[in-house]
Amino acid sequence: MKPVSGKTAIRTTCPYCGVGCGVLATPQPGGGLAVTGDPDHPANRGRLCVKGAALAETLGLQGRLLAPRIHGRQAGWDEALDLVARRFSETIARHGPDSVAFYVSGQFLTEDYYVANKLMKGYIGSANIDTNSRLCMASSVAGHRRAFGSDTVPGLYEDLEQADLVVLVGSNLAWCHPVLYQRLAAAKEARPGMRVVVVDPRRTASCDIADLHLALAPGSDAALFNALLAEIDRRGATDGGFLENLSGFDAALQAARLTDPGATGLPARQLAEFLDLWCSTRRVVTLYSQGINQSDSGTDKVNAILNCHLATGRIGRPGMGPFSLTGQPNAMGGREVGGLANMLACHLDIEDPAHREAVQGFWNSPAMAPGPGLKAVEMFRAVEEGRIRALWIMCTNPAASMPDADRVARAIGGCDFVVVSDMMADTDTTRLAHVLLPATGWAEKDGTVTNSERRISRQRRLLPAPGQARDDWRIIADVAARMGWAEGFAWDSPAEIFAEHARLSGLAGALGSDFDISLHAGIGGAEYDALRPFLWPQSARRRGGRFFADGVFHTPDGKGRMVPVNPLLAPDRPFRLNTGRVRDHWHTMTRTGLSPRLSRHIAEPYLEIHPDDARRLRLEPAGLAELWNDRGRAILRVLVTDRVRPGHPFAPIHWTGTTAPSGRVAALVPPLTDPVSGQPASKSAPVSIRPFAAA
Ligand code: SF4
Repeated sequence: MKPVSGKTAIRTTCPYCGVGCGVLATPQPGGGLAVTGDPDHPANRGRLCVKGAALAETLGLQGRLLAPRIHGRQAGWDEALDLVARRFSETIARHGPDSVAFYVSGQFLTEDYYVANKLMKGYIGSANIDTNSRLCMASSVAGHRRAFGSDTVPGLYEDLEQADLVVLVGSNLAWCHPVLYQRLAAAKEARPGMRVVVVDPRRTASCDIADLHLALAPGSDAALFNALLAEIDRRGATDGGFLENLSGFDAALQAARLTDPGATGLPARQLAEFLDLWCSTRRVVTLYSQGINQSDSGTDKVNAILNCHLATGRIGRPGMGPFSLTGQPNAMGGREVGGLANMLACHLDIEDPAHREAVQGFWNSPAMAPGPGLKAVEMFRAVEEGRIRALWIMCTNPAASMPDADRVARAIGGCDFVVVSDMMADTDTTRLAHVLLPATGWAEKDGTVTNSERRISRQRRLLPAPGQARDDWRIIADVAARMGWAEGFAWDSPAEIFAEHARLSGLAGALGSDFDISLHAGIGGAEYDALRPFLWPQSARRRGGRFFADGVFHTPDGKGRMVPVNPLLAPDRPFRLNTGRVRDHWHTMTRTGLSPRLSRHIAEPYLEIHPDDARRLRLEPAGLAELWNDRGRAILRVLVTDRVRPGHPFAPIHWTGTTAPSGRVAALVPPLTDPVSGQPASKSAPVSIRPFAAA
């Protein structure tokens, strides 16, 4: 396809991970695009990882959905949109607003998210909108809100380079956030005194730069950080002045003192080395990701980490702080617009009547969700039970990626009315749709995304929309108009949506929200086009920077809250399957699977298993293993390695096929969730394993 602009490079943002790297896309004389890192983008300063560098190889039309379809036949947009609007309206009229749901995506742009959230919460009057980001960072959101009174990431990427100690917990940064890993590795190279500790049951690629690897017992992270809090107190390493800005110290310390450090399974000398290093180093960043979040006690694990930083005042200062990394490119943008079932727009509180009233007043909308809606796992359970009768899935593939994926697929297949908006024609989820709506993809979309350090960047259109594909925000707005609400959805461009979002954030800021970008409330199309990456907040009161070093939090009394954590330990089963990502693929590979180069690194689904386990199970290296439980089955290539612990094999999530070797690893994950955040525990699925013999 011919690029939209003549010859000049267009600045945009990589659509994969939460690092949010700036990309320069340059139209080529013969067509197509050349993609390089943007040297001026603060997240990456010209760097790209291999996925970002291969973006141009994933832009072909192979497998694209190019026209609406109704029950498999091609249809016009008017017919498809009329049908969606009519079926949603009828369902709401007959069964109430909570009988419908949207399941959206951290791959959405902020403008898409804003429009979907506005339609569901402010017009339909339900909060049944949740996102695949629930699977990625909901525990961090919940932990932040418990500790800070707001979902605020305190620090910046540059803190990693300014720290004297960086602790990676449950994060294979080298593969999952590669450019940030490159920045960390470069900083360590330049500053020989800097230390890196990796806390992970697996020996991952991130251990290549680690001075210390703590291969702790799976799930024992809270025990480790409770041991640290007790040690901080024993040494008198708390920050007395900062403690005056906190509540809950005594209770958190008491819980920490009651925790047995032996639960970590770490050799005493290694544990002592870590405690000493952390306590004696002022500039510490503790960076964490899915290994913490994807747990049935993920929120407690987050708070165990935050407790240590709060008690020492090591937060929001250069080189210091807890740092949660998001998996997806715009998980943060989704949080900002309130695109999760338990959130309201602009970090306002959906459980606060005054906040709900303020947002409804701003939207001038006919309704407002009366409280939180169904989180992802609950939502698909409600679909299965017939409580959700009309479901619209946008930009994601839950039939392959949700925990208990086979059951989720059956639930979607049994739903009265299923709409799927997607750029791809044939996914596990599109196959189940009554109506398929063709959406634009990364290179064809225009809007904004927010990365893990709160930096908002533009994603710019590089290519024209193929076939009849339309932007997600426009599809949602067109359905809203057909449901009778044209006035609230009458934007002509993403710039207008962004300006409305920024205006609402000013109202939120006045109500005490941390998220305020009201300096952009009057933004016009030309300024939006030229918008350079910026950190929020951007308001008359405050511009960018770090949070909380001043000891002021967003809780009602202004104090940060330390939370007592009583660690849960995983029950001992023969095998607990850990799941995660590989370096060169993304989610269910609908895009990265198009690049042969990206499949060179790892070409098929595999199982990392310890030599002792492999011997006992008679698994041959490079043979096939069958994994099963009462929920699903996967057949994986065997990789015998002592990178994993006995009893705790690992498999990547990306492959979804059904012929051997087949992935569908999510089908093995039980729908067990953290009670606070609703995030599924995807790192500890009980499975049985045996050699696979083809029939
Ligand atoms: Fe894209 Fe993440 Fe790689 Fe950056 S690190 S190029 S955002 S996948």
